[in-house]
Formats: sequence, structure tokens, C-alpha cells
Amino acid sequence: MTATQTGDGRVALVTGASRGIGAAIARRLAAGGHRVACNSRSGCAELASEIGGVDAPGDVATADGVEAAFAAAESGFAAKVEILVNNAGITRDGLLLRMSDEDWDAVVSTNLTAAMLTTRRALRTMIRGRHGRIVNVASVTGLIGNLGQANYAAAKAGLVGLTKSVAAEVASRNVTANVVAPGFVTTDMTAALAESVQEHYVGKIPMGRMGTADEVAECVAFLASDAASYVTGAVLTVDGGLCLGH
Ligand code: NAP
Repeated sequence: MTATQTGDGRVALVTGASRGIGAAIARRLAAGGHRVACNSRSGCAELASEIGGVDAPGDVATADGVEAAFAAAESGFAAKVEILVNNAGITRDGLLLRMSDEDWDAVVSTNLTAAMLTTRRALRTMIRGRHGRIVNVASVTGLIGNLGQANYAAAKAGLVGLTKSVAAEVASRNVTANVVAPGFVTTDMTAALAESVQEHYVGKIPMGRMGTADEVAECVAFLASDAASYVTGAVLTVDGGLCLGH
């Protein structure tokens, strides 16, 4: 075991782990000694095999998908999920005036309702086991808003409210719930933006660069660890200073 391996083999379920920030979180938790179940709609067979984890496919915006993901994690490791990372997320950007009901619903379901469904499912066993770590990946957009992202900002702000309320409800059971709020990070999600839009955002970042998925994963791993045993209901921005001045 290396110095970084301190996870004691606890089972972690990471949603949206097939690429980007979620894949980095899954790799980081595995490197830290956790047993990691990797979720996405289409599955993460390759990543799961790379990190000695379990493939836990399922659409977490639906109750059936959540149950399927937990069932795969629990049967794959013959143990309960003690660390839940709600990372799955999508964007459907557009000005509110022209936003369709479908784009609103899809973003709220995936970024907010999914976290409620997974958290409710995970708490059943975390509370009984008197240990749990819930880390929700929100966004600075949920803290400061962003034009063209009313659906996404509302969902991510809701995720902050959900996290703080859950944190208060389960603190006495040694279960923590915290938020990591990334700024502008290099992944497929941001690669989809026009270069001029990317340059515009980078120009607003005091550190003058985009973040990496690994930089976000490191913060998630801290909040999932025993080192963060007295941290709950917190929002950790990982944004190169983007929120400064707001
Ligand atoms: P990404 O590269 O687009 O990856 C999104 C992941 O979510 C994929 O694994 C995707 O896999 C999965 N996913 C989407 N809908 C799902 C569903 N219903 N059920 C299960 N899995 C689902 O995104 P990313 O940039 O890594 O972002 C990860 C998280 O960080 C998101 O919550 C995002 O909002 C947040 N974030 C990102 C940035 C950024 O700059 N990149 C900034 C702030 C916050 P499938 O499509 O195979 O299901």
C-alpha cells in the first residue's frame, strides 16, 4: 500500500464516471484505496476494469437507473456504498425566453433530481452503518448564475440547497454531505463551446487558465476521506478564483 492509499477499501459510487471529471474522480478514489463503482448511462466497463472497480450502468435521473447502479455496486463488491459522488451532469444551454420545457426538465432531472434519488437510496445504509460521505459536484454557475444557463444554474443551486439540508439531517449519524463547485474545467462538456466563448471565460479567471479534471478530483477525494471528518454542508469552489469579486 502506498502513502496515498488510505481508503480502507470502502465502496464508492461515482455517477457520470465514463469521462471527464467523473473518470478522474473514480481513478483518484481507486488510487486512494477505495473500491469504486463507476456509473454512467452507457456504462464504464473499460474504466472499471482499468481501476479494478465495478461497472454500474444506469440512468441516475430515474429511480430504476439508480437502483440498477446501486445493485451493481453492492453485488459487485458484496458491501454497501459508503461514499457517494454525484457527478453526472448535462447542459442544454439557451436563453430562458426560448428554452423548451424539455431542456429545462432534462437538466433539472440529471443535475438535481438524480442526486436526490441517489442520496435517498444511499442514506438507508449509511445511516445504519454510522458512516457516509456524500460529495455533490455542482458548479460556480449555481452560485453566481450565468446567462444562457438558467436551467443549469437553477439545478446546481438546488443541489447546494439539497446538500446543506441533507448535511443537517444526517450529521449526528457521522454522514457528511458537501459540495464541490468547479469553475471552468477542460472536459468534453466545455470542449463543446466555441473557442471564442472559451476565451471569454478564461479571460475572467484570475489564474488565467482552465482547471483540470484531476484538480477537481483531488478536492472530491479530500471531502470523501477521513481527513474531512468535521467538514459538512460546505461548498468548496475549485475555480482558479473565478468567483472572486462576486
Ligand atoms: P462530461 O464530460 O459531459 O461527462 C458527463 C458524465 O455524466 C458522463 O460520464 C455521462 O455519461 C454522465 N451522465 C450524463 N447523464 C447521465 C445520467 N442521466 N445518468 C448517468 N450518467 C450520466 O461532463 P464533465 O465536464 O466531466 O462534468 C462532470 C460534472 O461536473 C457535471 O455535473 C458538470 O455539471 C460539472 N461541472 C463541469 C464543469 C466543466 O467546466 N467541465 C464546470 C462545473 C461543473 P453518459 O453520457 O454515458 O451517461
